[in-house]
Amino acid sequence: MTKENIMHPGIAVVAGGAGFIGSHLCRALLDRGHEVICVDNLQTARPSNLRALEGSPGFTFVHADVVRPLPPAVTERMAQITRVYNLACAASPPQYQADPEHTLLTSVVGTHHLLRLAEAAKARFLLTSTSEVYGDPEIHPQIEDYRGSVSCTGPRACYDEGKRAAETLAFDYARGGRAEVRVARLFNTYGPNMHPDDGRVVSNLLCQALSGAPITIYGDGSQTRSFCYVSDTVDGLVRLMESDIDGSEPVNLGNPVEITVNDLLARVRAIVGSDAAVVHRPLPVDDPRRRRPDIGRAKALLDWSPKVPVDTGLARTAAWFAEELGASLQSPAAQAA
Ligand code: UDP
Repeated sequence: MTKENIMHPGIAVVAGGAGFIGSHLCRALLDRGHEVICVDNLQTARPSNLRALEGSPGFTFVHADVVRPLPPAVTERMAQITRVYNLACAASPPQYQADPEHTLLTSVVGTHHLLRLAEAAKARFLLTSTSEVYGDPEIHPQIEDYRGSVSCTGPRACYDEGKRAAETLAFDYARGGRAEVRVARLFNTYGPNMHPDDGRVVSNLLCQALSGAPITIYGDGSQTRSFCYVSDTVDGLVRLMESDIDGSEPVNLGNPVEITVNDLLARVRAIVGSDAAVVHRPLPVDDPRRRRPDIGRAKALLDWSPKVPVDTGLARTAAWFAEELGASLQSPAAQAA
């Protein structure tokens, strides 16, 4: 069904390509020889992510919101489009909850527009879904067959249910033979190019520690997450897109090393060399108590597992944020990253 060959892999459309993971993915696809059309509404993207890509041969930026029909700058290149990656959606809880209606529509209507593009172009389509489809999980670690424990009425539902519906659409397109589909469920990802005001725990803790601001821990900090460095996530996405699996099942992509938020704080303190005070804030509504991917499927199908240890990734991310914020790092580990 796909039409690329080894010499000319064609155009990859990356919706959300100016965002944190999207900007790394655009770079990786350019390095693999793709032309890249990045479609982004710049709602949560860092403008400098885009500036770093814009000079690259083969890169085109299209300022558009996937909630609306895709503009001619995308559709008129249909004949060359071989891959459609959908990463479009605010992904940090404060940002996706700021305009919940738009968040839900981005996942559902945006995915529909991009699937229609893939169908018309006979291109392969990859949806970045999320570990949030498991909600506050009763099964640990989370396997793909687990159907999740999501509140459909709470403040996270706009994101969680939007992604669940987007998966439904994608698998219906696949079942109907309308598009070749891949679905990745991404667990927490971190690294350079995150927005300092993103609101997620890694960016918050690193930026607070670097600037000497009080460090915000929600609840008692005993909740767990599993943090995957962005280069590993991007490697997993490209492997999944390029694999010849039948694509009828979602694939977890995340780091199975599970740590508490308090443990993350201790690592951040050691790397940044900070003794900034901690302020506790209430645990957000529906905040999952724990999260860890079972990556058996990704290992078996894609020969993929994360390579970057958490402390190495955190040190690299700290060094990057320090440069962005004009702050200094005390610890040799981060300076060497
Ligand atoms: N969190 C925290 N301090 C912060 C931001 C987040 O303690 O400044 C907690 C949050 O309540 C959650 C975990 O860190 O339990 C991960 O939050 P994040 O927003 O990064 O992503 P989530 O996995 O909840 O989507």
